[in-house]
Formats: sequence, C-alpha cells, structure tokens
Amino acid sequence: MKLDGVELRWVEMPLRSPFRTSFGTQTVRQLLLLRAVADEGEGWGECVAMSEPVYSSEYQEGCADVLRRYLVPALTGEVDGISVVPRLKKYYGHRMAKAALEMAVLDAELRARGVSFGRELGATRDRVPCGVSVGIMNSIPELLDAVGGYLGEGYVRIKLKIEPGWDVEPVRAVRERFGDEVLLQVDANTAYALADARHLARLDPFDLLLIEQPLDEEELLAHAELAKVVQTPICLDESITSASSAADAIRLGACQIVNIKPGRVGGYLEARRIHDVCAANNIAAWCGGMLETGIGRAANVALAALPGCTLPGDTSASDRYYKLDVTEPFVLDDGHLTVPAGPGLGVTPLPEALEEVTVKTEWIPLA
Ligand SMILES: [Mg+2]
Repeated sequence: MKLDGVELRWVEMPLRSPFRTSFGTQTVRQLLLLRAVADEGEGWGECVAMSEPVYSSEYQEGCADVLRRYLVPALTGEVDGISVVPRLKKYYGHRMAKAALEMAVLDAELRARGVSFGRELGATRDRVPCGVSVGIMNSIPELLDAVGGYLGEGYVRIKLKIEPGWDVEPVRAVRERFGDEVLLQVDANTAYALADARHLARLDPFDLLLIEQPLDEEELLAHAELAKVVQTPICLDESITSASSAADAIRLGACQIVNIKPGRVGGYLEARRIHDVCAANNIAAWCGGMLETGIGRAANVALAALPGCTLPGDTSASDRYYKLDVTEPFVLDDGHLTVPAGPGLGVTPLPEALEEVTVKTEWIPLA
C-alpha cells in the first residue's frame, strides 16, 4: 500500500457533563482525527492527546506538529500497519502521535483486506462487558446520583476517580448505598505519595477490585513498596508505556493488574504485546479509555475482546460522554458493547456529525 497523504482534523466534542480527575476538569474533548489516504483506500486514526500536557507530556498541537514535520513524511513508499511504528523508531517518544498514525494506516490496510480490528488483534469474544469511569464530584449526594444512574443503565463495573480529600468517604458512601456486590475500583491518576500508604490502606475494607496508578508514573519501586502495605490490588496505567515497561513492572511487583491504553502506549499492536506479557504472567488486564470518539472506541472494544482482558474496561457507550458521536453510537446492551465485525474499525465517521465538531483540517501530502 502507498500513502497519498494524511488529513489531520481538529475536533471539539462537548461533554455531556464536566469530567473531573485529579489533574483537572474537562468540559470539551479536543482531539485530532487522522484520515490516511492510500492507493488501496482510506483509514481512520484518533490521537488521544489532550489539548494541554497535563495528563502526559504529549498535547494536541505537539502531536500535530510532529506528525506534519516528521512522522507522516517518513512513510513514503510501501507501507502497512505493522511497519509504521518500526519505521518511526528514530523519532523518540511521541507515542500518542505514532499510535494515531499506525491506527489510520492499519485501518486502511484492514479495510482493503476485509479483516476487522478484532480479528487482526486476536479477539475471542463478540461482545465485551463495560465499566464506567465516574469523575470527582462536588458532593457525595451528587456522586451517588451519578453512580445510581450508571448502574441503572446497566454498567457492570464502577470506577471512581479519587484524589486526596476525595477517597475513603466517597468509596464508603457508594458501598453503603449500592452494596458489596457492585464491582468497584478507584483511579488516582498519580495523585498520592508513598507516604500516603497507610491512608490508602483505609480503602482495603471496601473490597475494591483495584486501585489504579496511586503514585507518580516513574515510581515503580514505590508502587512495589506500597503493595506491601495496601491489600487492594494495584493496577498501573500511566506507568505502562510499552510491553517492556509492563514486563519490568510485573517483575518488580509494582502491579497485579494492568490498564492497557492503546492510544498512549504507541498503538494497538504494542497494546496487544502488553496484553500478551500480562497473559504470560497471569496478570489481569483491561482496556482503558481516553474519552475517545466512536473511532477510537471501536478499536478499544476490539482490544477489550482479547482473551487476557479479563476485567471490564472503561469502554463505555458513546452517550457516557457525548450527545453526538462522530460514528454510529455505541449503545449499551445489558451492560455490554458489541465488537464491530466489519472490515477495519467496522465503523465509519458520519460526514454531517464530523462536520459539526470539526474546527479545522490540514492535508499533509506525501511525495
Ligand atoms: Mg487511569
């Protein structure tokens, strides 16, 4: 396959309600969509970088810049999905930008071959159980309303975002209101220090599935130390940047569970390698989310259908975040989403919906 070029598309998706985490509040999801145009057809990619470098070092304009300046121009001549990231090896970092480009090329290739993302990645299920991520709220009653609403919609697992000052009490309140049967976990997005170990151990009585990324992403040994004090299983997210870092974290005892984020680890093929490392080590894995549109969501649902993704992911329905998705919406069916079976991502952006959220586009031609 030969690329003619790649179109970058800046979109702004208004969120149905503000989403607050320990690193900030989002009201609009700004992201970059990529459309790879090749001699054999088109493919779509989605870059998960936020508009500011507050979750990771990458950000939307930085990704656009590295894509136009270095990454897209490197893909001259014959290219296919599996060759994209190796060909970009000389350019350090920028995993989110690389992931988006790999995804667009892979989608174009798979559409041309008539193979779905799920089939290519090795999915073994045609539907996946879905969890939902619940942001930090202004009050406990507001949180209980939100959690009650999601449980009513059928979500099979609840994840509460936590930070110092919003941890033990919200968890206690949710357990007291909704009972011990609810699958419940928390995500700190690096908001704590090892010195908080005894405080975090106060979450142990609530029988949580896991506590996600309590400490800074570079503090693998500190997570291993924390695991000696806290009984709740530790899950790493931000710390897992590759299959190699996942293998190290597991060997060090820094995590018992891994959250795989394809858009953050350099693509779906690296995400599958992380899945394989986890499976080989009997470490449970699940697919996280970055407030993707239906484009990224389609691929995430395919990854979540791999056999080693044994816990419900953050692969929520489209209406968890957006009134209007850019593809046909993903709709919850008895707490599950169907894995798209069509070629490539199995979904295609709807021109009108896409137009409505597009801020600007840019065409990067390949010589
Ligand atoms: Mg997380």
